[in-house]
Amino acid sequence: MKKARKLFVKSFGCQMNVYDSQRMADTLAPEGYSETAAIEDADLVILNTCHIREKAAEKVYSELGRVRRLKQAAAADGRRVTVAVAGCVAQAEGGEIIRRAPAVDVVVGSQNYHRLPELLVRAAQGGRIVDTAFPVEDKFDALAPPTAPITRSRGVTAFVTVQEGCDKFCTFCVVPYTRGAEVSRPVEKILAEIRRLADAGVREVTLIGQNVNAYHGAGPGGGAWSLARLLARAAQVTGIERLRYTTSHPSDMADDLIAAHGELPQLMPQLHLPVQSGCDRILTAMNRRHGRADYLSLVARLRKARPDLALTSDFIVGFPGETEEDFALTLSLVKEVGYSGAFSFKYSPRPGTPGAEMDEQIDEDVKTERLQRLQAVIDANQAAFNRACRGRSFSVLFERPGRYSGQLVGRSPYLQPVQVDAPASLIGEIAPVTVTEIAANSLFGVLADARAGEPVPASTGA
Ligand code: SF4
Repeated sequence: MKKARKLFVKSFGCQMNVYDSQRMADTLAPEGYSETAAIEDADLVILNTCHIREKAAEKVYSELGRVRRLKQAAAADGRRVTVAVAGCVAQAEGGEIIRRAPAVDVVVGSQNYHRLPELLVRAAQGGRIVDTAFPVEDKFDALAPPTAPITRSRGVTAFVTVQEGCDKFCTFCVVPYTRGAEVSRPVEKILAEIRRLADAGVREVTLIGQNVNAYHGAGPGGGAWSLARLLARAAQVTGIERLRYTTSHPSDMADDLIAAHGELPQLMPQLHLPVQSGCDRILTAMNRRHGRADYLSLVARLRKARPDLALTSDFIVGFPGETEEDFALTLSLVKEVGYSGAFSFKYSPRPGTPGAEMDEQIDEDVKTERLQRLQAVIDANQAAFNRACRGRSFSVLFERPGRYSGQLVGRSPYLQPVQVDAPASLIGEIAPVTVTEIAANSLFGVLADARAGEPVPASTGA
């Protein structure tokens, strides 16, 4: 029997990291680690980092300063705390983290989490370890062999990584350097993971990858499967009622994937489709491989397949050379598409990317002012989308208790949080809800079923 120890994992950034953090916790559970939400109780602290956001590395170093003080306080009490840094900043910085952050025992790159137990043993023997090589073995197999049981239930929704890495080389992005080339997992391994999740009570699965719609994993009979084909098979897994996928690149939206939005009831009517800018000149400078007209025509085709499709997106303002006219095209694109929400950021140069070397970097003040204007338009889009939901009824998957007694929180088909007075027995169930009130970031509703208070049979789709 392994010694019982506490693990604290802090995830920065995207769903890929949240997923990876869960897999790290799963892989460490047989070693005696159970998760704690209190960092001061932890025997092992893992910072699972993200390189996408502004000043990512500096934020990690500043967090490591706080972790160092905790580690010193624990040592004064005679307790050893091990500190590991994982994720994209670990991959990019490598040994520099060991040099700059004395508290760190292990630096593990995004392809090597499955080696954590071994790396921790080596660290316990007094070493300070850096493992950021791109290995040849399959990380996913090592993390969860096809026959392995799910260690713990994760609730009713789950992420499943189907693809990692990216070959697109957008000029602002570090992913192709930190996560490597595009790799797709084989179909059977993904389906086995989804079946295990369904057996553990999961009802909604989001297939994730940095460039998820470039998926081209090996099918059971040989030959590559598209994401649409994979989604269609995943929809047949008993217990899986809802499917989503993210993050997609516009130039990889194949015809069969667009059609799937109209044909597959389990595929929820919400799609995150980053565009970054509404200006062709900037899109070219970003190496996005699509123009404004391509994107708008893609949106039209998607909405033809699924008229109620809610779209979200990512935007970067102040990319090098962006003029006021260029920025105005981004504002007009947001208005034209009518997003249900979007993430927007000021451009910040990432070392090693072509964008960082470009002339005509934009002043910080200009970026800030443009970002505020863009966010105002996005917020107006989101408010309009939410307002249009008032009085509508749609299916809600109940995920957890709400803040107040007797309240549950679930998700609409469009990914909005919905708060409803409902019995706890509905957690994990899908029930029709009528939206009665709208708040800034969530909806309030009542069970639409006349038998409110009784479990409602799960249904699919909106
Ligand atoms: S497609 Fe996405 S992940 Fe790939 S380089 Fe561009 S922004 Fe980065």
